Amino acid sequence: MSARILIVDDLAPNLHLLEVKLAAQYYDVVTAMSGKQALKLAGSEKFDLILLDAMMPGLNGFEVCKRLKSNPATWHIPVVMVTALEETRDRIRGLEAGADDFITKPIDDFNLLARVKSLLRLKMVTDQLLSHTGDSKENSRPMLELLDNRKGRILILDDHERKLQLLAAPLQGHHEILLEADPKRAVELINTQIDLVIVSLVSNKFDGLRFCARLRSDTVTRDIPILAIGDPEAEATLVRAYDIGINDTLMRPIEDQELKARVNTQLKRKFYADSLRDNFSESMEMVITDPMTGLGNRRHFDRSVAPLFDQLNQTGQVFSLVIFDVDRFKRVNDILGHDVGDIVLKEVAARLASNMRSIDVVSRYGGEEFLIAMPDTDQEAAIIAADRIRSLIGGTPITVGDQGFSIAVSAGIAEAQKGDKFRDVFKRADSALYQAKHSGRNQVRGAGEKNIAA
Ligand code: GH3
Ligand code: MG
Ligand code: MG
Repeated sequence: MSARILIVDDLAPNLHLLEVKLAAQYYDVVTAMSGKQALKLAGSEKFDLILLDAMMPGLNGFEVCKRLKSNPATWHIPVVMVTALEETRDRIRGLEAGADDFITKPIDDFNLLARVKSLLRLKMVTDQLLSHTGDSKENSRPMLELLDNRKGRILILDDHERKLQLLAAPLQGHHEILLEADPKRAVELINTQIDLVIVSLVSNKFDGLRFCARLRSDTVTRDIPILAIGDPEAEATLVRAYDIGINDTLMRPIEDQELKARVNTQLKRKFYADSLRDNFSESMEMVITDPMTGLGNRRHFDRSVAPLFDQLNQTGQVFSLVIFDVDRFKRVNDILGHDVGDIVLKEVAARLASNMRSIDVVSRYGGEEFLIAMPDTDQEAAIIAADRIRSLIGGTPITVGDQGFSIAVSAGIAEAQKGDKFRDVFKRADSALYQAKHSGRNQVRGAGEKNIAA
């Protein structure tokens, strides 16, 4: 199926011109004449790309872009902002509003089609990645954002030191930049894991096309994105470059914002594709684990683990929940400082994780609160396990530097009853925890147990 593109412009002649150009390339084109209409269409129909005029009466392009990018149904659609040539400020505003790229009026065909192709490729991997999550688009967003912010290793090949520096400057800081003036040495560097190659096609010291062809012919380097720097006058070279398989072009004179936007798009696509290849679940892990303890986080538990346990219960299998809470943890922070508090929490997490069965799911459910779901375990067995861990945590001091601290934990335990949802079990375990705290802490308590000490 051909890609579906929405064009937004308040002037009919502009719309028509773009429509004709894109339809001629067999894209499926839909038009809108106002920001309002565009938002409505984007919300109700599927698009692969949106070309958005920056200057429109009423809702302008920047505002429309912002809304598209903050809407869970549309944030993943690439947006190309169409701005006036002389307005650098507009381009920066567009990027700040979340636009993925921009083209300037008057629109040059070659540039337009290059932008469209490059972003449609990005859209394709984004869609693939999203379909792999099996989750809603909104839930997958944090994961993609992590990938977006990844630092790239970029190799730039141009023939003059000064040109290299000019290209590197806007990218430095966020990315790792390797500069090279010799294509032979550049080829050697390529074998050291490069995420993007920027190469000049207008050098008079080496043949940029040959360099691109070489990268494309080698299986190791075939998939590395290439951003080529071309001369708008030398269209034949650019056409050749696209034939060889470069991914995008930048025309001289190069503008910083444009360079950054194009680099971002190429890196995103590369990282998304890598992540698809390297097993998506690994990338997903960054979103579902708590970075401090390495345990699953609450979000993960609620979204993925709890429904599983609901299912277990429906099929008549027993499970229990244990909530551990560190006793008087505020004092640890107050007396020893937050950093020591963190070390203590990490150690508690490690002791929990290493002393549970592999089928138990341990997660950091709150600041100093840990939740353990135990399949195939009734309350009595869960109490025994929890008490063993309680004494294990309280019994061995935690060392920080050359000092040792003893801390204690309390736990509340509940077993799922017929018809229970995860939430119901959780509530009973939580009130049992309250009882344990109330009865003096450093103890475990099962739901429904008589409160001896109260
Ligand atoms: P209780 O025995 O009743 O549980 O007493 P408590 O002091 O542990 O009480 P409470 O649960 O109210 O306090 C928990 C404290 O844990 C408050 C919060 O500042 C601290 N905390 C939460 N997350 C972290 C963290 O990541 N690091 C550190 N150092 N402290 C945290
Ligand atoms: Mg506590
Ligand atoms: Mg607490």
